[in-house]
Amino acid sequence: RGKRAFVAGVADDNGYGWAIAKALAAAGAEILVGTWVPALNIFETSLRRGKFDESRRLPNGSLMEIIKVYPLDAVYDTPEDVPDDVRTNKRYAGASNWTVKEVAESVKNDFGSIDILVHSLANGPEVTKPLLETSRKGYLAAISASSYSFVSLLKHFLPIMNPGGASISLTYIASERTIPGYGGGMSSAKAALESDTMVLAFEAGRKHKIRVNTISAGPLGSRAAKAIGFIEKMIEYSYANAPLQKELSADEVGNTAAFLVSPLASAVTGSVVYVDNGLNTMGLAT
Ligand code: NAD
Repeated sequence: RGKRAFVAGVADDNGYGWAIAKALAAAGAEILVGTWVPALNIFETSLRRGKFDESRRLPNGSLMEIIKVYPLDAVYDTPEDVPDDVRTNKRYAGASNWTVKEVAESVKNDFGSIDILVHSLANGPEVTKPLLETSRKGYLAAISASSYSFVSLLKHFLPIMNPGGASISLTYIASERTIPGYGGGMSSAKAALESDTMVLAFEAGRKHKIRVNTISAGPLGSRAAKAIGFIEKMIEYSYANAPLQKELSADEVGNTAAFLVSPLASAVTGSVVYVDNGLNTMGLAT
């Protein structure tokens, strides 16, 4: 049997989640995705109308099949956690069972188990504000959506993950070096995500034989990145200063993710793996 992957954080064909799903599909995995509730309608409609058909094409010519799309809001663990204003919001009203615990239960009911868990989501409502101007609420929201969301997903999916399976998340170098402009507590959230990768690798490894790694990716002009506001500048900076002077494609991150969750990486866990054309190794801009 092929492997089954749940990819959380796919809402269009531009981001890292989509590229990871494609790389896993190309390697023969069955793909389930978790899509943020407010983005669900437009994503499913676009998928149905064939808007993504061009980018669904795999190296062998076939189209990536997304077996099922689950609505997900990774900021909430159980229905009891959802405040009334969100529950009754019209962007949420049409969907159901989208808290982390419920999504894991739905996947269990539908398919029994998974082998691969991908976390490719982040949100920082105050990302454009410097840390000194970030509110407590904005900071905690960034941590909730971008760091705890991984702890929660892994916690709820672990019981249905087959031993030998693996999980992967996406991080950014702003966790360990100052990147002015990556604000709102998002740098803090990535530092937490990287530290948690190590601790969760220990706990999930001992308890369930599951590996946990994170990819520190270079800049990509995704929807989320455009909301930050300086992504074009970061892409230019990387092109000018990285050891490899080429554009970074989402597929390169997808391929590394496919390697890391495969048996080829069976001894790699708790690691931060850089997929950034080597930019992280530079000490002086050139
Ligand atoms: P993206 O917009 O494709 O992905 C982010 C996804 O998160 C979106 O689909 C969004 O709907 C979803 N999301 C936001 N809040 C959510 C919630 N509460 N519950 C469920 N889903 C939610 O953008 P991307 O840049 O590909 O981001 C994917 C990951 O890659 C993120 O962790 C991001 O921080 C990381 N990353 C991105 C870059 C970059 O330059 N784009 C660089 C390094 C790391």
